[in-house]
Amino acid sequence: MQQDNGTSFTDSDVSIFEAFAIFCGLGIHNTQMYESACKLMAKQKVALECLSYHATASNDDTLRLTSEPIPSAESYNLYSFTFIDFDLTDEDTCRATIRMFKQCDLIQKFHIPYEVLCRWILSVKKNYRPVKYHNWRHALNVAQTMFAMLKTGKMEQFMTDLEILGLLVACLCHDLDHRGTNNAFQMKTESPLAILYSTSTMEHHHFDQCVMILNSDSNNIFQNLSMEDYRKVMKVVESAILSTDLAVYFKKKNKFMELIDEGEFDWQSEEKKELLCGMMMTACDVSAIAKPWEVQHRVAKLVADEFFDQGDLERLQLNQQPVAMMDRERKDELPQMQVGFIDVICLPLYKVLSDTFPWIMPLYEGTMENKKHWQDLAEKVEMGLTWIDRDTIDEPVEEFVSYEPKDIEFTVTTLNCAHVDRKEAAEKSTLGRFASLRKGGRTLTKGVRHRISRSLYARSTPEDAAKSKALIPDRKSRNKLCLLI
Ligand SMILES: [Zn+2]
Repeated sequence: MQQDNGTSFTDSDVSIFEAFAIFCGLGIHNTQMYESACKLMAKQKVALECLSYHATASNDDTLRLTSEPIPSAESYNLYSFTFIDFDLTDEDTCRATIRMFKQCDLIQKFHIPYEVLCRWILSVKKNYRPVKYHNWRHALNVAQTMFAMLKTGKMEQFMTDLEILGLLVACLCHDLDHRGTNNAFQMKTESPLAILYSTSTMEHHHFDQCVMILNSDSNNIFQNLSMEDYRKVMKVVESAILSTDLAVYFKKKNKFMELIDEGEFDWQSEEKKELLCGMMMTACDVSAIAKPWEVQHRVAKLVADEFFDQGDLERLQLNQQPVAMMDRERKDELPQMQVGFIDVICLPLYKVLSDTFPWIMPLYEGTMENKKHWQDLAEKVEMGLTWIDRDTIDEPVEEFVSYEPKDIEFTVTTLNCAHVDRKEAAEKSTLGRFASLRKGGRTLTKGVRHRISRSLYARSTPEDAAKSKALIPDRKSRNKLCLLI
């Protein structure tokens, strides 16, 4: 090929032309990329607008809550560590939340427009999924324990008003959009969330959702804060939510215990304050363990139900054997696992906290009390005297009180293996089936199991109780009992 002037193109001309062509190609490619990036950003903006519209509370609901009177803190039992939401309506859960903000005087101190606070609370509630345990009710209970720790537990003396605001917000938001599955599950299923965050996966998401709600129209309860306070409170909220990951707790607890051992009393440096807030968040997050036994028992069922559902998913979706805690086939181990949970996480934390801050002792005492109950139940399961399932776990074993004290006689006879008449023989064979159920069989109907249990725990009169107690063998003779039944 020749140039216009008749001379031939040199190799260098060809190289320059090739380079120019590549340059043009890159230019065109970049323009196209830029255009599609702009479109994707616009799409994301539309999706976010859409999401935040549907994720936030409606004006009607907000106006209704805004115009309602807010009952007293006492009427909701907010100052007590025994607070529970079971009897509260959904509307009451929102009113109780507003009451906590009022008792801490946060609305006035931070100039939170009342309507914005109401809308924000309703939006937070709306962004909890109806999973069995990690739902809005759990968030409310955690926030209430924080409130009780600050007020009744006198921890507010260590906190600034801004930190109190941040801690309450963090408690209410700390499990936002929880799906009933844990961080390990996100990793195993390679969920998009696990790709976004490789550690504290769900906790990062809870915080992201918290930010999403605050950034939605008329939901920003921090809108009248100075730039500096805004930055500070968001930092408190972020670090408090992230610290609800138990993996983070285990990483930080030694440092905290060290400080306590050294007799630390000044918690005002940024690092120490963050550590203290993190420990308080964990203390609140697991505080169902310190509630009165009937409440703890009921909540443990909810947790177990949610865990078992994850276990089922792991079996179905991943074809994997779930860990004991999530394996419904091993539900009888629940009491023993509760004892482990209490010993490893709850008691050491409550012990060190209540030794240092004595006003939060009720959390420690309540946990000690429940430990006794779980231990007792675990021993009974071990002896084959009861079982755990979703139908019966909400009835503490003490409630299996019989209306048929005669069954006691039957049990004694069975143990003595003497004079087994026809009726007793029938009952005895039922017990045999019960024993096989304990080995994994599924032969008993609920009614039959309930009847056997009632007969084993019958103690309608003091004499019956004495007889019943006499039936429970010491550790050595337990096997003998198992063999007998
Ligand atoms: Zn939680």
